[in-house]
Amino acid sequence: MQYYSTNGKAPIADLQKAVVKGLAEDKGLYMPEKIKTLPQSFFDNIQDMTFQEIAYNVASAFFGEDVDAESLKTIVYDTLSFDCPVVNVNDNIYSLELFHGPTLAFKDVGARFMARLLQYFLKKQQGETKSAEQVNVLVATSGDTGSAVANGFLGVDGIHVYVLYPKGKVSPIQECQFTTLGKNITAVEVDGVFDDCQALVKSAFMDDELNRHMRLTSANSINVARFLPQAFYYFNAYARLKKQYMDAQKPMPDFVVCTPSGNFGNICAGLFAKRMGLPVKRFVAANNANSVFYEYLQTGKYCPRPSVQTIANAMDVGDPSNFARVYALYNKEWEAIRKDISGATYTNGQIADTMRQVYKNTGYVCDPHGACGYRALSERIQPEEVGVFLETAHPAKFKQTVDEILASDIEIPAKLRAFMQGEKQSEPMTKDFADFKAYLMKQ
Ligand SMILES: *Cc1c(COP(=O)(O)O)cnc(C)c1O
Repeated sequence: MQYYSTNGKAPIADLQKAVVKGLAEDKGLYMPEKIKTLPQSFFDNIQDMTFQEIAYNVASAFFGEDVDAESLKTIVYDTLSFDCPVVNVNDNIYSLELFHGPTLAFKDVGARFMARLLQYFLKKQQGETKSAEQVNVLVATSGDTGSAVANGFLGVDGIHVYVLYPKGKVSPIQECQFTTLGKNITAVEVDGVFDDCQALVKSAFMDDELNRHMRLTSANSINVARFLPQAFYYFNAYARLKKQYMDAQKPMPDFVVCTPSGNFGNICAGLFAKRMGLPVKRFVAANNANSVFYEYLQTGKYCPRPSVQTIANAMDVGDPSNFARVYALYNKEWEAIRKDISGATYTNGQIADTMRQVYKNTGYVCDPHGACGYRALSERIQPEEVGVFLETAHPAKFKQTVDEILASDIEIPAKLRAFMQGEKQSEPMTKDFADFKAYLMKQ
């Protein structure tokens, strides 16, 4: 499969180059030249397949030409060592729980897949060139990417990970998930907001001198190996619901999906799933107060601006990277985008109200991101439809916020507690690229 850049000024790349480089030379995002539709027989039988089987079918359509079948199967099966169940919250509204992985957020899926695929390509390259040059993964995080990527790569030979995060703007539990690991993981604490971290990463890729000094790649959702695997769980959600309806001898209603969105990698994977034939009637992109995409849907104008801090901090993004992919997928047609995606934006107060109401009425604990998804879905869903919102992280990752809002004392899962015992280590950094570059040049 060939990959082109959304900016249209970089050479076509194969999968290996797209994964190892992350970002195209012209700062564009790589897009597959074609998106295969899966055969009808796949959808006819999907309800009887396991999550791993479904994911392997989807992965083969994307990566099957570039990765041998055996290796791809191992990568998919190792990645999905945990489930992504669909849980009824009330009426026709379901939560797709994406927090059962090692760091308790959906990003485990993409990060684990990418870590394995990158290793696969590095081994292949080393075999070809006999060089064992270290690869440096740069990743900017608004909270959950850092831990998912760091844990995906922890202890992997030949790879060093730099996690850039905005000082004081991620939850304490999130912070300890990538600052306490040591080994081949370095946390860089940037005096700025998430967009500053993202800008530092992008500038690093564009800097010739730095790229001569060290091999860099990106593990943000700009990397195709990070965002495409997220399509797996959209297919699985459909399969699990279809099974329930079939068992109840009822027809599967129209399927609506709501994705709490920040950098738009997750929803973009859902849009790809639809393009591959998954029968999603429409999507809802739920935003917090960072409403640049919502406004684009209303006005047709995309006006990025600095992000503001909210209680759903992993969605505090003012210039979503994957907007470029959504735009390219729909041939830059605003009307077509609006046909498939509607938007929503909520204040902190509205997010907190929703968390309280859902908890009171159903007993279900939404984290602040999932709450945006629940609310946007419940305000839009029709009685004849069935809807799924993505519960993108475990509420305990935001324990302080959640407990204050719900007057609760939610339990911290053992997996999460284990991270909190380590000692925090990070490199302080300004948001000035010259400083970051000087630091990397010394490594
Ligand atoms: C990263 C993240 C999001 C936003 O996902 P995007 O792919 O960046 O749109 C939403 N919720 C949580 C909990 C996250 O960690």
